Amino acid sequence: GDVMRLDKQLSHLQYGSRKEVRELIKHKHVAVDGVIQTDPGFDVKTATIAVDGEVVAGALDVTYLLNKPQNVITATEDAHQATVLDLIATADRRPNLSPVGRLDKDTTGLLFLTTDGQLAHRLLDPKKHVPKTYRVQLREPLTDTAQEVLEHGISFKDFTSQPAQVERLTPDAMQIALTIHEGKFHQVKRMLLAVDNEVMQLERIAMGGLALPEDLAPGQYRAVTDDELAQLT
Ligand code: URA
Repeated sequence: GDVMRLDKQLSHLQYGSRKEVRELIKHKHVAVDGVIQTDPGFDVKTATIAVDGEVVAGALDVTYLLNKPQNVITATEDAHQATVLDLIATADRRPNLSPVGRLDKDTTGLLFLTTDGQLAHRLLDPKKHVPKTYRVQLREPLTDTAQEVLEHGISFKDFTSQPAQVERLTPDAMQIALTIHEGKFHQVKRMLLAVDNEVMQLERIAMGGLALPEDLAPGQYRAVTDDELAQLT
């Protein structure tokens, strides 16, 4: 995660304007890891910050699940395009809040955002093969041969996909649920191109044992509950 000035961080955490939080800091109201800190420019990475002895909630880890809509990019900031962080209300933002992995600009569905670097690492570690399930709208019906190839694994120049799970969601085989065990760049699109088909629409519907909640509309997010966190890998 990034290092951030103490005054900036407190202001992000809704403790007031930059000017107001500087006053708080100068007047010894703020402690970092238990030590009063009077320098507003003090660099904080991960630390427990307390104001008047009370731990600021934002210093604790938060994890959200977002239903990513189309046309926003999976990044924390961008000069020209809307990012997934723009969808998070100011009050819910935290200094190190970052997306876990990446969905393409045109892909929708489940995306975690977290301040918990260890959680992010567990979910993304290639050795852990955390399953990710996508609803895929195809250009043409999935053939039996194509299904077998996907379920067998495909050799690309940079990696070989683990056997994937395929479920036909519609009788015409135009829509499938595909579960993969890596997270390579454009992986699902590349896998379907490899079997002479094409992804027309892509939505992630599950990751690491958690499904995208049906009542979460595109653009909406909510905090992951403790029970859900325990389920997550
Ligand atoms: N595979 C893709 O091709 N794109 C995504 O956004 C996710 C998986």
